[in-house]
Amino acid sequence: MIDEEIFRLMEEEREHQNKTLSLIASENYTSESVMHALGSVLTNKYAEGVPELRYYKGCKVIDKIENLALERLTRLFDAEAGNVQPHSGTQANMAIYFAVLNPKDYVLSLSTVNGGHLSHGSLINFSGELYNFVHYGVDENGFIDYENVEYLAKKYRPKLIVCGASSYSRIIDFERFKKIAESVDALLMVDMAHIAGLVAAELHPSPVPFADFVTSTTQKTLRGPRGGFILCQKKYERIINKAVFPGIQGGPLMNVIAAKAVCFAEAMTSEFKSYISQVLKNAKEMAEKFSELKFDVVTGGTENHSFVLDLTKFELDGEQFSRMLEEVGINVSKQTVPNDKLGWKQASGVRIGTPAITTRGFDTDACDKLVDLINLVVRDFDGSKEYVKSEVAKLASQFPIYNYNNKHVDD
Ligand SMILES: *Cc1c(COP(=O)(O)O)cnc(C)c1O
Repeated sequence: MIDEEIFRLMEEEREHQNKTLSLIASENYTSESVMHALGSVLTNKYAEGVPELRYYKGCKVIDKIENLALERLTRLFDAEAGNVQPHSGTQANMAIYFAVLNPKDYVLSLSTVNGGHLSHGSLINFSGELYNFVHYGVDENGFIDYENVEYLAKKYRPKLIVCGASSYSRIIDFERFKKIAESVDALLMVDMAHIAGLVAAELHPSPVPFADFVTSTTQKTLRGPRGGFILCQKKYERIINKAVFPGIQGGPLMNVIAAKAVCFAEAMTSEFKSYISQVLKNAKEMAEKFSELKFDVVTGGTENHSFVLDLTKFELDGEQFSRMLEEVGINVSKQTVPNDKLGWKQASGVRIGTPAITTRGFDTDACDKLVDLINLVVRDFDGSKEYVKSEVAKLASQFPIYNYNNKHVDD
């Protein structure tokens, strides 16, 4: 049958994505090759277990696919071992916790309001319910307070220290985290979900030499399918594999694993490196331009693909402002600022990221234009709304979603 209802909605969503601009730092547009793998016969196969050790028969081809994905993953990040089965970034984190922690163990991480992820011990997430998370903070300028990390590590003696964030515009000192972890015999997990593409392109320091475990998503800067993966040293491979299956998941999503393999191959190309380089240039340009226009940029700038605007002085909260932007065709996510007084429901800021618009082909000039439009929304929403809406639509049609290099990797 043809499901016309869903087909129509899919077309509607395609048009919506094409006509609006996403500044959501965790979003991107995958290649046609990635989507081709996602919508394939691989979704028909059960493959519980790991390659060559499956619980179901008929996995010969599936094994080749997973082995290829794994080989590309470990080569891309220069890691000893990995696992490509986690259904998402959260699942990857869950697998590490399940592998090395017991319920109620102490873990040290960045709190959600200061940029950490829900799965880093938020009380509304399984992680916060099962384990004793203690949170380090950021200073009044928004930088990670390493002395506070050290102090809390000595005080609580956590079994695991987690770093990596959903909203942090600065390079994290992985080596310093490793030293702190070693000094209290803790394991170190780096969640590089947001910066994985930057690390893959070697335009950001890699956590791999310092971390016991690295977790990530594939759908953010890495521009792959929605999914997760884990990197670790060889000595942890068995416990990690066991934690993923049968610990926390059933059958792997083989169509997604094939799409991850495509994404890893794409991330090894020089085109991808130029893409990430442009992502960084665009983010820097936008943060600088916002500063010139007297916006408060948290930490005063960015060293990666994202940054946070603190809206306090405009007497706007993040929820209000992101709703206004949605009306003119720009999607952002609200974001709490360091030591936010409003809490996550309203939040005092918005997070801005350049991965998605850069995939559409945005250069620094187009980014400047976009900042000017956002500035108009802040200063005079009612007066500028119709104008901004039409200018955003123009930019969107000037930079359509599927205009970038969508060749199959072996073309
Ligand atoms: C996005 C993100 C995740 C998890 O992503 P999902 O795939 O949505 O589960 C985990 N950690 C960090 C730091 C993230 O930003």
